[in-house]
Amino acid sequence: MSPAPLFQRIALIGFGLIGGSIARAARAQGLAGEIVVTARSAATRARVRELGVVDRVVDTSAEAVKDADLVILCIPVGACGPVAQDIAPHLKAGAIVSDVGSVKGTVLRAMAPHLPNTVHFIPAHPVAGTEHSGPDSGFAELFINRWCILTPPPDADKAAVEKLATFWRALGANVEIMAADHHDLVLAVTSHLPHLIAYTIVGTADELEDVTQAEVLKFSAGGFRDFTRIAASDPTMWRDVFLANKDAVLEMLGAFQEDLSKLTRAIRRGDGEALFDHFTRTRAIRRGIVSLGQETADPDFGRKPAHLPKKAD
Ligand code: NAP
Repeated sequence: MSPAPLFQRIALIGFGLIGGSIARAARAQGLAGEIVVTARSAATRARVRELGVVDRVVDTSAEAVKDADLVILCIPVGACGPVAQDIAPHLKAGAIVSDVGSVKGTVLRAMAPHLPNTVHFIPAHPVAGTEHSGPDSGFAELFINRWCILTPPPDADKAAVEKLATFWRALGANVEIMAADHHDLVLAVTSHLPHLIAYTIVGTADELEDVTQAEVLKFSAGGFRDFTRIAASDPTMWRDVFLANKDAVLEMLGAFQEDLSKLTRAIRRGDGEALFDHFTRTRAIRRGIVSLGQETADPDFGRKPAHLPKKAD
């Protein structure tokens, strides 16, 4: 007889890259007796039904959370407060309520006031993603060897935190626990600022007058194309991230602008030593990420090399 699943019923609100990946991985690992899903649009709900990767698709959030032991909001950060308000009267006592938002302080403050004290509210952020979105974009392996950061309020029930941590570990993730505001500062530099820089560079290249669009695309392998992957990320999600994590992003942006000024000065003065020292330091950071298993050491980010045409005999 197979062991009882970790949760009898899991409700996922939102079925895009993250919700779709959680559903697929939870099903593959047998973590739920039943997985119930809802999504905002009828089109997404219809697509989830077609995909056949969950047990039930329902039309409303209220219906989805009924009798669920674990409820996860897999929707943009800005939508979490209103949805929490919507589901609050329908939550089962003792349920764990969580989310996957990329910003934690704002989500905590937007959701917590609506939730009854009979449930365990434990926000979470799986630090894993791609530039794709929508119901077809998820895959069961997304979280393997990636970090999931839980940001429980100080008075959170320890057993509930451990149960949610067990769930994320079963999806393949490593789990870390952190205060919400500290999470937002860390992610501002590791994720939000890089996205802002990518959005900026790609926009700048798009508006140049002396270099044509065709040239930008044709010679993109010089570095530009790696920014375009990040800059292709979902506009709704990233609008909400910058609105929700304004203070931490502005703080990191200030530090970044100072460092950019230093490099600008080194280039203007022809200070090769300053440039060389800086680039040597940053190279070591890349090697650190590879040694922690968060990136491949393969050249060109693991892209498969094309083959030369066969030599004519
Ligand atoms: P996604 O693929 O765009 O899916 C978003 C889902 O949210 C869809 O089901 C969408 O419904 C629903 N939704 C959108 N606006 C809504 C609203 N106002 N009210 C209710 N539902 C709404 O997005 P995702 O990449 O899975 O991101 C979901 C969350 O995960 C975000 O909070 C994001 O910060 C976080 N996250 C994302 C990544 C990443 O790399 N993408 C990584 C970690 C965490 P419809 O399909 O019906 O429109």
